[in-house]
Order: sequence, then structure tokens, then C-alpha cells
Amino acid sequence: MDNSCELLSSCSFFVVEVKSPALAEEFKRKYCNGNKEACSRYMIAKEVGLALIPPALYPNEYDKALDIIHGKKQPKT
Ligand code: SF4
Repeated sequence: MDNSCELLSSCSFFVVEVKSPALAEEFKRKYCNGNKEACSRYMIAKEVGLALIPPALYPNEYDKALDIIHGKKQPKT
């Protein structure tokens, strides 16, 4: 079963944030084509909506994601 992230084609993380192709591939392997449920960006999209994902948020920044999801902090723009 394909468990790839449905947000991959539009995920701004790879468009604006990751400058290193090697690092981008590592994130894609681990999260986008691996365990999307573990991605902090995906968590925010599912819990509170795509619009609240900070463009520069890394997939492994769980604490920031939880802060946003729990409404403790507004995302920086
Ligand atoms: S970084 Fe996260 S939200 Fe973006 S495509 Fe990959 S798994 Fe999906």
C-alpha cells in the first residue's frame, strides 16, 4: 500500500526551505515516502489545517508543531 504523503507535490518545505538535495532526499525517505504521521508539518495539516504550517518548519520540529496545534503559540510568518 502506498503510504506516501498526499501533500508532497505541494509541500512548500521542499520549495522554499531545503537547499540541500541530499537533505531533501533524506527527509522524503524518512517522512514523505516513509512515515508521514511522524512529520511535524503533516501533524499540523491534519490537526489544524495547512494554513498554519510555518513555511520553514522542519519535519522533525515536533515541539513547535505541538505548540501550534495546542494554540500556545502563533506560527511565525
Ligand atoms: S514534509 Fe511532511 S507534510 Fe511535507 S510532504 Fe513530507 S511528510 Fe508531507
